[in-house]
Amino acid sequence: MSVARPVAVPARLRHDYDALRAWLPRVHESVAALATPLPADEAAARAALAPRLEILRRQMLGSPWWLDTLRAHGLSPRDLQTLDDLRGFPTLARAELRRQAHALPSFDPESEEARQVVLIRSSGSTGEPVEVLKDTYDTLHMWAVLRFWLHALAKPLPDQPRVALLCALPGGLEYSSRLPALNDGLLTRISSVRERPLQRLLQADPQLLFSDPAGFHWLLAQPDAPRPLLALSSAQYLAPQIRAQVQKRLGCPVLDYYSTSETGAIAWRCPQAPDNWHVLTPEVWVEQLEGELVVTRLRDSVLPVIRYRTGDRGEVRFGRCACGRVGYSITGFHGRRACNFVAPNGGLADAWTLAWIFKYHDLEDFRLTQTDTSDFELEVIGAAETGELLDKLQRALAHMGWPQPRVKLLRVDAITKQGAKPEPFRVAGALQARP
Ligand SMILES: [Zn+2]
Repeated sequence: MSVARPVAVPARLRHDYDALRAWLPRVHESVAALATPLPADEAAARAALAPRLEILRRQMLGSPWWLDTLRAHGLSPRDLQTLDDLRGFPTLARAELRRQAHALPSFDPESEEARQVVLIRSSGSTGEPVEVLKDTYDTLHMWAVLRFWLHALAKPLPDQPRVALLCALPGGLEYSSRLPALNDGLLTRISSVRERPLQRLLQADPQLLFSDPAGFHWLLAQPDAPRPLLALSSAQYLAPQIRAQVQKRLGCPVLDYYSTSETGAIAWRCPQAPDNWHVLTPEVWVEQLEGELVVTRLRDSVLPVIRYRTGDRGEVRFGRCACGRVGYSITGFHGRRACNFVAPNGGLADAWTLAWIFKYHDLEDFRLTQTDTSDFELEVIGAAETGELLDKLQRALAHMGWPQPRVKLLRVDAITKQGAKPEPFRVAGALQARP
């Protein structure tokens, strides 16, 4: 029998919590800024954001990579005075961000500030591990965004809220941590791949539950579920029917948000107009560049994120949303490209409902292609054992409308990608074109 043990907090960490509390005014500043509506006129909205460019000018002056790059382009940070000027500045690709991890940060390595910087290793939504430099406020910023979302959804932030992060990744990492930036809440990370996760989740009794579509899929199959105030989903495409089922099961709204390891939260899906993803202005600025979403972080950080190419596709629009919110939204968002397989009866089946199967297996990468009516091709990299995976996949496909699916397994060294982001599910061209 497992007994809940109190988490022993080392003295040094307790001291750190006091230090984190010192950042509370900045958390409140972020919440207030995010909750302030932009002017209804776009020119006025852009003018309202322009003073934040001062942050970028300062960041570029402190960043060796930015100074070198600007020099090579015959530019100076002073050339950035308006959001229109920003379009004349160089972009930063994901690979470059990784290569320049040491030259990009904007700080004096000898300073006290530099000692408070952490390198976070994350699996990222693209599956490739990435190391991102964060300062203390970067690690707290998500709590400011969460406070803003609660405000936007007219939900109260409880005192000492219980927050759970339900994770379906194969690593099985679990921990608890105090949240001085969120009314002294307690965060419990629970892994669905360890033993008795449901018991721990019910024991944690979260009021706020973070997970991803794989985690929610797991939760839907359980005999019992917690009853949070709000559930939050990110990292992968959340199929509308899964979202509806989760809302019904948990008895609370599910907020879907767009975030990357490198930038933090970028936008959130409007609860009333699901094709609109509201950009988190004034702290984030999103441009579209030949259909690609390019993100600039308009807030202080040791890591300048300026014109960062996400590899995600969508359009940015200004206007009033059906929910009444005025500002910038991403529409036609293809960061997590939807994919419908064509069932033998001609119906469409959302391929992403299969994503959870792959999360439980330690694959470096995979791609499932529907090649004919009942034929699929599964490319995998880095799986030792695939019998169980194939078995689960065949059963799931049978459940989705393929009584006798044929899955051909291909072990490959690389998966050729068309864009910057992986495309784990796709339908072969010939089948797509079929009436
Ligand atoms: Zn809206």
